[in-house]
Amino acid sequence: MKIPLLNLKRQYSYLKKDIENVISEILEGGAYINGPQTKKFEKRMEEYLGVKHAIGVGNGTDALVIALETLGIGKGDEVITSPFTFFATAEAISVVGAKPVFVDVKLEDFNIDETKIEKAITSKTKAIIPVHIFGTPANMDKINEIAKKNNLYVIEDACQAIGARYKNKMVGTLSDIACFSFFPTKNLGTYGDGGLITTNNDNFATICRALKAHGSGENGEKAYNFLNNIKEEVKVDNQVDDTVYNPKKYYNYLIGHNSRLDELHAGILNVKLNYLDEWNNKRNEIAKYYDKKLDDKKYKKMKLSKDDFNVYHMYIIQTENRNELSKKLDEAEIGYGVYYPVPLHLQKVYKSLGYKEGDLPNAEYLSKRTLAIPVDPELTEEEKEYIINFLNNLEL
Ligand SMILES: *Cc1c(COP(=O)(O)O)cnc(C)c1O
Repeated sequence: MKIPLLNLKRQYSYLKKDIENVISEILEGGAYINGPQTKKFEKRMEEYLGVKHAIGVGNGTDALVIALETLGIGKGDEVITSPFTFFATAEAISVVGAKPVFVDVKLEDFNIDETKIEKAITSKTKAIIPVHIFGTPANMDKINEIAKKNNLYVIEDACQAIGARYKNKMVGTLSDIACFSFFPTKNLGTYGDGGLITTNNDNFATICRALKAHGSGENGEKAYNFLNNIKEEVKVDNQVDDTVYNPKKYYNYLIGHNSRLDELHAGILNVKLNYLDEWNNKRNEIAKYYDKKLDDKKYKKMKLSKDDFNVYHMYIIQTENRNELSKKLDEAEIGYGVYYPVPLHLQKVYKSLGYKEGDLPNAEYLSKRTLAIPVDPELTEEEKEYIINFLNNLEL
């Protein structure tokens, strides 16, 4: 039985009508940038997450870069993060000219080990970026406590965890600024690239809004005044229609980016957001079922806190025979993925940071053993049983 890791084509088959409708509505409406779908999506995300500002951007990587820039982080600064994450988390730190400092992860949930953060803090440290990896919330209480004590910012990388709750609070609302991605395979994904920045801080929101659009316009001027301590009132109308011509766009105040959540993607996301909770609940159910049914002697599973709602962006098993298991899964046409084969501190690109094998043993241990199996919310009963039986009957 052929089972992909994630079957987005199957999902599209039942979304098709709504997606086609919203796309033709946008095409016929003529507002292709920052139109009504984008505004509606930002508003809905503010309500869904319970956060003051949700700002659409081009992708999750840009969200991280803009968040760092907004907090004034750059050359000479250090930012603490996890080595067991998608490259973009650290890449964003490097892009702004700062240095990523990696702190090892925990073997139970693969998140940054909060007990090891303080040892990594130096006079140059400006921020901590916890990643809610695979949809599992990081220990935000401890991380925020450490940040407060040491006068550091916290940026959540929530790209894999939309809808996850840390002690009943939505991730992406628990730090200075948070970042989301709508890459197609994320729990909420569009048919292309998209991203979101969230914050409860009005000034950070203004700077983010300025930076995503060439540092221009009213947000640019307001951000400029704030950053330069100029007490001059600038009225910002975020509802202004700049889809065709907005004269304010041609006044620039900061060096920013062109990073927008496109109207077409916002429209697609407005359709898919209706299903997000249902999908996350399904992922959670499938994961609980795997937890119960998969043979503990053959596969080690994640041990996650019962206080949180995990959205299982990935369901990860660990095995000592990953190569062999991969081969068998290939033969059986069961989809899988290896997240992540090389921890970031050992990536070639970061050679100059001076890490060596053995420095972050848990991340290194996991990178040799983890394997993701399908936790697609549309997985049928039959497919689920097939995967479980296949894995439990395998002789490795
Ligand atoms: C996907 C992802 C990103 C980057 O998002 P893009 O939209 O692909 O740029 C950053 N961090 C993590 C943890 C991710 O999973």
